Amino acid sequence: MTQKRHPETLTATALGWSDPETDAMAMPLRPSTSFLRDPNDLDRTGRMFTRDDNPTFAQPEALINALEGGAGCLLFASGMAAITSVFQRLTPGDHVILPELVYSGLRDWMNIHGVRWGLEVSYVDFSELALVQAAIIQGKTKVIWLETPSNPTWGITDIAAISTVAHAAGVLVAIDNTVATPILTRPLEHGADIVVHSCSKYMNGHGDLIAGAVVVAHGQSAILSDMQKLRNEYGGVLGSFETWLLLRGMRTLSVRVKTASISALKIAEFLDGCGAVQQVLYPGLPHHPGHDIAAKQMTGGFGGMLSFRLKGGEVAAKILAGKVQIIRQAISFGSTETVIEHRAGMEKTDSPTPRDMLRVSVGLEHTDDLIADLQHAMDAMQLELDAPDA
Ligand SMILES: *Cc1c(COP(=O)(O)O)cnc(C)c1O
Repeated sequence: MTQKRHPETLTATALGWSDPETDAMAMPLRPSTSFLRDPNDLDRTGRMFTRDDNPTFAQPEALINALEGGAGCLLFASGMAAITSVFQRLTPGDHVILPELVYSGLRDWMNIHGVRWGLEVSYVDFSELALVQAAIIQGKTKVIWLETPSNPTWGITDIAAISTVAHAAGVLVAIDNTVATPILTRPLEHGADIVVHSCSKYMNGHGDLIAGAVVVAHGQSAILSDMQKLRNEYGGVLGSFETWLLLRGMRTLSVRVKTASISALKIAEFLDGCGAVQQVLYPGLPHHPGHDIAAKQMTGGFGGMLSFRLKGGEVAAKILAGKVQIIRQAISFGSTETVIEHRAGMEKTDSPTPRDMLRVSVGLEHTDDLIADLQHAMDAMQLELDAPDA
């Protein structure tokens, strides 16, 4: 059967592998650090030491690669280890373009370590293609980095448009696809060259491990070999137990992401009608500035992440985040349970994240329970704001 399988089938079957030795349908965890050498001192399986490669990596790497439609995938010890490997390939003096609003961990790494290593960085407003084009320095710019929807305000970038501009100048396009996941967006189909993931979020989906992945497009296999060397030499390698758990989590990726997307849209609509709310940031809402591109580029939903700004400012936002009872106040996202976060408080003081904003990762609870919880928290917030001694 040559028909291309759907993401639901790829994830549920985990590509249908089984252990050739035992016929076990769940592949065994293989924690061994070393692999035997034959009498001629050769490693028969091509494996020698787990910092370079481990057989437990093979199935989740093949699954992520199949979901993204890539030429190959590598797992890393964290999303940050995956992201930084893209930049560690570069040479001092190389120039990179990042969005103004980008995952804060990358901005902090770039401003301290990337710059110290000699990378030159431009932060650009990606809503204007002309600004991205103008920021390219011919022969010097090596990577344009995207995130869509971008954390934490869920701006949408047209991957195909950026890729066209980048490729005309010989620049690689790398994209952090953590938020959309390959269930909702497959950036390589739109022209991107490299996809990275924090698998700590939706990919694993249960809030109990840290992992990352890199996938490269067909024709870019040389990048993958560079990165495998970097992974070995910098040592950002994933533990085999985490690798095994990650595959277990990924089997339900598509149902989790689709359920969260349906619920997030309803919650965004509810928040849009709340008097205390200044603005809801969710690409599924028709008034979101990136809605039309998102509708074209995303398949099967707009994701489980949304943010909203409060008319009562930072004070109101912090009170509200403390009043929820089912939803819990915590960092991170993409797990089964809904969490709310005052994002600006988590980031450095120079962060452009609005201070009156809360970020919500919608989980898999019943939507009505989540809406009732938010309504209750809004009422409690209002009482506290209206109290005479407030
Ligand atoms: C969490 C996150 C990262 C970093 O991943 P870790 O697994 O925490 O190292 C990178 N990008 C985005 C969009 C994230 O949300």
